[in-house]
Amino acid sequence: MNFLEERITKDGIVKPGNVLKVDSFLNHQMDIALLDEIGKEFHRRFSHKPITKVLTIEASGIAIAYPVAREFGVPLVFAKKSKSINIEGEMYVAEVESFTHKNKNQVIVSKRFLSPDDHVLIIDDFLANGCALQGLISIAESAGATVEGLGIAIEKGFQIGGRVIRNLGYQLESLAIVDAMDADAGTITFRAQD
Ligand code: 5GP
Repeated sequence: MNFLEERITKDGIVKPGNVLKVDSFLNHQMDIALLDEIGKEFHRRFSHKPITKVLTIEASGIAIAYPVAREFGVPLVFAKKSKSINIEGEMYVAEVESFTHKNKNQVIVSKRFLSPDDHVLIIDDFLANGCALQGLISIAESAGATVEGLGIAIEKGFQIGGRVIRNLGYQLESLAIVDAMDADAGTITFRAQD
């Protein structure tokens, strides 16, 4: 087991509805030493790529993306969730359905912060059905930027997102892939990775 799988096993809580709660160390209370380690690991996995920006989505993606951007020495851009409609023109816009809240949000990034010269590494905390990542890919593509890869802390391998994104041909690196979880027994099974 790697460091993140160990921590999920110790402190993750399986909730009904295929939700894994990691709020004691990743997305409510945050373990900064663990986040630093995540930043180093993504840097190691994507160090051969000419990354110029790290792109994520608010709110919980920011904490994961911050140490990654620091390791690469590049800016971090996060897509904002927005209800307003009169923003096209200055903004790249994508529609993202939230897995946890079951609602749709427009997510926006200012055109000032992504350009065709950018080589983007997309980072998020969880991958479930892939809506968040597809929204971020669409924003990067609207900017004419190159998506160099995607890094996820926790992929739920029993949901379709991972397959969809890999089938699009992207390098998708997930530090922990949960293949099964049982809310009653509280058990979590990880996919074996190299
Ligand atoms: P997707 O768009 O891939 O369906 O879902 C990814 C987004 O939903 C992530 O940005 C994450 O915030 C949230 N999410 C999905 N599954 C879980 C989960 O099991 N636990 C938590 N805490 N967040 C999740």
